[in-house]
Amino acid sequence: MTEGRARPFIVAIDGPAGAGKSSASRLLAARLGFALVDTGAIYRAVALAAGRAGVALDDDGPLERLLPTLAIRFAPPPGPGASQRVFLGAEEVSEAIRTPAISLGASAVSARPVVRAGLLDLQRRLARASENRGSVLEGRDIGTVVFPDADLKIFLTASESERAHRRWLELHARGDPSTVEQVLAEQRRRDRDDSERAVAPLRPAPDARLLDSSHLGLEAVVEMLAREVEARLGARPR
Ligand code: C5P
Repeated sequence: MTEGRARPFIVAIDGPAGAGKSSASRLLAARLGFALVDTGAIYRAVALAAGRAGVALDDDGPLERLLPTLAIRFAPPPGPGASQRVFLGAEEVSEAIRTPAISLGASAVSARPVVRAGLLDLQRRLARASENRGSVLEGRDIGTVVFPDADLKIFLTASESERAHRRWLELHARGDPSTVEQVLAEQRRRDRDDSERAVAPLRPAPDARLLDSSHLGLEAVVEMLAREVEARLGARPR
């Protein structure tokens, strides 16, 4: 046993694009009073910054040099039910990182081992620095690479068509003109790239619990996860 405060309880939520990870993670963190670390937002911020700096998304040297210059941080949401705010230095980039172009850019930079390695420490620090009793991390490789010793690992999926439809609704609500067909094509490409890349490919950790949300409402997913965390927290040695 270590002295002092135990490390926060770590919940790893991985899965493909559009499975509902973001909404489920946000609601779960709020319900449990845990910190939230949206690791996809970190990769998105890197893609945005690289594009602005004129760095090609597969040019390892300049990408590696760019990373330490980026001050990526999160701030609490502007209101209840809203998403966390994302900052690059002093600039809020919450909206700018959510475009379809940045989705593909994030997928591209995330395939570079130098980028993944360069972001590991930031992801772990954000999760461990929590004043809260726990942190929810959402991404693609949290349970396999970032926190292989997470206290609870969930791999959240849904059918391809359901995921594309949800993502389209989200984009549509923001005024994005993409059609469902375009969203599905982009999703397929990202799924393929994320699953086939050599480093930290998208796949469930052997000890992850698989949860298919195709026919489950968001509230039901959050309820199941919250109960699971509470049961494990209750059983955890203090
Ligand atoms: O989750 P989100 O759609 O915001 O992630 C954007 C992209 O960042 C993903 O398609 C994936 O390529 C990459 N990513 C990753 N590892 C993570 C989180 C995101 O490779 N832990």
